[in-house]
Formats: sequence, structure tokens, C-alpha cells
Amino acid sequence: MSATVITSPEPSVAARPELRRTSAVAKSKFDETLKIWMNGEMTEWKNATIHIAAHALHYGSSVFEGIRCYNTPKGRMILGLRQHIRRLLDSARIYRMDVTYSQEQLEKACVDVVKLNEMQEAYLRPLLYRGYYALGVYPDQCPIDASVIPLRWGKYLGDEALERGIEVCVSSWGRMAPNTLPALAKSGANYMNSQLIKIDAIRLGFEEGIALDMHGYVSEGSGENIFLVRDGVLHTPPLCSSILPGITREGILNIAGELGIPTKVEEIPREMLYICDEVFFTGTAAEVTPIRSIDKVQVGAGKPGPITRRLQEAYFDLINGKRSDPRGFLYYV
Ligand code: PMP
Repeated sequence: MSATVITSPEPSVAARPELRRTSAVAKSKFDETLKIWMNGEMTEWKNATIHIAAHALHYGSSVFEGIRCYNTPKGRMILGLRQHIRRLLDSARIYRMDVTYSQEQLEKACVDVVKLNEMQEAYLRPLLYRGYYALGVYPDQCPIDASVIPLRWGKYLGDEALERGIEVCVSSWGRMAPNTLPALAKSGANYMNSQLIKIDAIRLGFEEGIALDMHGYVSEGSGENIFLVRDGVLHTPPLCSSILPGITREGILNIAGELGIPTKVEEIPREMLYICDEVFFTGTAAEVTPIRSIDKVQVGAGKPGPITRRLQEAYFDLINGKRSDPRGFLYYV
């Protein structure tokens, strides 16, 4: 196991009574000097709280995004800002949330947060949620509140993960079946499933888990999409395998097309994981993270393969403005 594994390096909360707090703000890992955009206003970190009776807290009625702002040679750039805000509004629409902010207003909120906090790099967390009014399951009278939280955040799966690859397992937890919780919506509720996948993987000594869909086909990681390579062909599961339509996934599919790498978007049987030449995760947080073993079975040569490397390089070239950006992923601010 690599030294970079993020396996709860700190004692759990149960062992740290000072963290079992009732007030909203206490000791935390956050940079509490940052300001948060909340319902149109820039709010001090310590004042950015919600009521205990807010609907979202009880029923998971929130939708959100995770967006990265990079400090690039061509200036500060929010990667995929338009695409992320569009997905945020799609998620809200799936859940019949009437959002009073437009695409442009939410994009501007993200830009303003970065600028006001004078951040060169950031992880932005836009969040729309059903707020404080009543606690019935029927949510229509609850307001739709909006916020954008800025965070300072490094490499999601550890600094060495991008170089050496990570060790993962197939989770005993599956993704949501179609017609239960919609996988295309990035809702808070879906991340209860992701938490089970992640907790189990970490407890078993892996860095991440891969979930299968209800038919046993490969779906995705707890917070990443997945790609496989076999005989030079790039494979990734389709939307109907209960995946989140990842913005990074879309970017990698575009880049693979530009590089002339043949691509198949179709259901992937689990056993393909054990016989393919290369596997990697994609995501805003995970970027392009190679996988070097699955269920202790070595992938390829046990190190990032050539197609993974090419795509990883091309992805960072795109971010750094060294590749053309025909689909408008780069949003300089
Ligand atoms: N699947 C899940 C479950 C995720 O949480 C994420 C991270 N948002 C992804 C895939 C990757 O999506 P994106 O590339 O848009 O970050």
C-alpha cells in the first residue's frame, strides 16, 4: 500500500470528544477565514450556518457540484464551470427544485467567491438545498437555498496517486438501481451510497472502491468515473450503468477522440476489470488517477500504462492551456 493512502490518519471522532460538538463552529480542518456565498451574499465562514430543522439535513434534499479552480500559466481558470453549473441545474430539475438563480448568476457566484477570497487555486462546492420551513416529506414549500463554499484542497487520493496509481477493490455495495435514486443527479442523498463504498474500501485497506450496477456491470467509484483499456481500446460504462455523467469523463472521451484512441461506451462485465491492460479513475477531485491493482489482482504491469499516461498528460495540457479547447472547458477568471 502506498504511503499516500488517505486512511483516516486521525483518531475517529468517537476518540475525540472535543469534536462531538453541538455548535456549528468548533475546531475543524477548514480555513475559517474564507468567505462563503450564501443566497446572494458573501458571508463570514462562522456565520454560514443553517437551521437544524432544514429539510435537506433530514431527507438528503440537496444537489451540489465540486469544481476546481487552477492557477495555470495562462492565468486563474475554473475548469468546466459552465458544464458543472449546467449539471447542478439539471440535478435540481430532476428533483423538481425551483431554483431562483440562473446559470449565469451561479457561475458569477463561483467567480466572485474565488476573487473575493483572493484564491489562485480552489475547490468550489456550489450547493442547492431545501431549507427551513417545514419537516414534511413533501418538500414543495421549503425554500431552495443556494451557497458556494470555497475550499483549499490538494490531490484527492494523495500526492503520489497520480504517479504510482492506487489499490482498489470491488465494493460489496452496488450503485442505486435505475428508477430508485437517479444517478444522473448529483444529489446529497446519493452520497450515502458513496460513503458506504468508501468506508468499506478504506476499512479493508484499499484506497477506493468500485461499485457495480444492479445487473453486476461495472458502474463507478465512490466519487469517480472509471475507464479500462484492453488491446488499445478505451472502455467506459454508459450512463445507464448508474453513473454520474462526469465532466472529466466527458473531457477524457473528447481527448481520446482527438488522439485517435478507439473508444467504446458500453456495459462492462466485472471480470473485464481483472483482464484489462490499464484502468484509471477520472473526476474533478481525482483528475486522472491510475489504478494499479483491483482486489489485489495487479492491473497490467502494476504501474500506469501508456494510454493512461497519454490521456493524463493531455488532460493536464488542457488545463495548462497547451491543448486547444474546442468545447469550452476552460473558464479564465
Ligand atoms: N461519479 C461520482 C459518484 C462522483 O462523485 C464524481 C465527482 N463529482 C464523479 C463520478 C466524477 O465527476 P466529475 O468528473 O464531474 O467530477
